[in-house]
Amino acid sequence: MSRFFSDKYAALTPYVPGEQPKNQQYIKLNTNEFPFAPPQAVVDGAKTEAGKLQLYSDPECTQFIEKAAQVWGVKKTQILATNGSDEILNFAFMAFCDKNHPIAFPDISYGFYSVFAELNGVPYEKIPLKADFSVDYRDYIGIGKNIVIANPNAPTGLALSRAQVEEIVKSNPDNAVIIDEAYVDFGGESCVPLVEKYDNLLITQTFSKSRGLAGARLGLGIACEGLIADLNTIKYSTNPYNVNRMTMAAGYAALCENEYYKTKCAEICKTREDTSNALKEMGFEVLDSKTNFLFAQTDKISGKALYEKLKENGILIRHFNGGRIDNFNRITIGTKEQMDVFLKKTAEILKEKE
Ligand SMILES: *Cc1c(COP(=O)(O)O)cnc(C)c1O
Repeated sequence: MSRFFSDKYAALTPYVPGEQPKNQQYIKLNTNEFPFAPPQAVVDGAKTEAGKLQLYSDPECTQFIEKAAQVWGVKKTQILATNGSDEILNFAFMAFCDKNHPIAFPDISYGFYSVFAELNGVPYEKIPLKADFSVDYRDYIGIGKNIVIANPNAPTGLALSRAQVEEIVKSNPDNAVIIDEAYVDFGGESCVPLVEKYDNLLITQTFSKSRGLAGARLGLGIACEGLIADLNTIKYSTNPYNVNRMTMAAGYAALCENEYYKTKCAEICKTREDTSNALKEMGFEVLDSKTNFLFAQTDKISGKALYEKLKENGILIRHFNGGRIDNFNRITIGTKEQMDVFLKKTAEILKEKE
């Protein structure tokens, strides 16, 4: 730290992204990316815009937002596009949270929530998951704080129903409730239909997981017009051209290919069920995932040792150190072929331990 670093950030512990190896070829099952390359139309969209990079991007993201409004069935004024959904989450912390408007979220969830809270000087409460790692929606009823919940949750993969989320939103009418739907396309129940009814609900989604554009950085928020207007105030006060030309064109083309992504997500869900069953047969406990990853443990080998052994064998999964989830690993669902290699290596590692 230099002597110029502001006191307000001195205690900040930044988010630690999953490993993104540069040299060795790994089977990458550690950051929940989509395992398929973008369709040609998406690549072509980005390429066309590459030749116009001397010009700023459209700050209003007009074409993209029009298409997104159609796809999600809301008004154009109810959507904001951002540089990944991490950006809209940060905007929401900036817009709706402060010393007098603290926020609550599950103790085991997306690591960025506490980082955004600390970055923005927002007091936060971590509400423990139940013993089975589910979110108990009743813990959030009428708590009178802002709330952010990943639904389905990460890294557990477990989901709340729309009716349960509605109870939370309804019972905290004077607080913003942010539902992070990064994984909703893999079997969750989206709460987008609720934004018509509640002026305190913000839904965030991302193109990084179910639309395979993690490297492009594209996310969005859907809410009533008032919340989106506030988030736009933050956007135009930080980075008006937050979505670059190539990304916007790729995102637009991806929305035009909706059927392709639906088919691929269904394929990933099928592979997830097959992988889950195979792990259970090997003696793993596997949580009931509604996402593109599995959260699993076994008493035959520690979470950390399995992670390390697989890495030696060219397979990356995600291990989170410490606490109640120390023995678990989060395993992204890749292609069927990748999961076959993962299962084979895992079986070999368990056999060595016997
Ligand atoms: C991956 C992820 C995000 C954000 O991803 P972006 O790449 O920034 O869009 C947000 N929330 C959760 C729970 C995630 O897993």
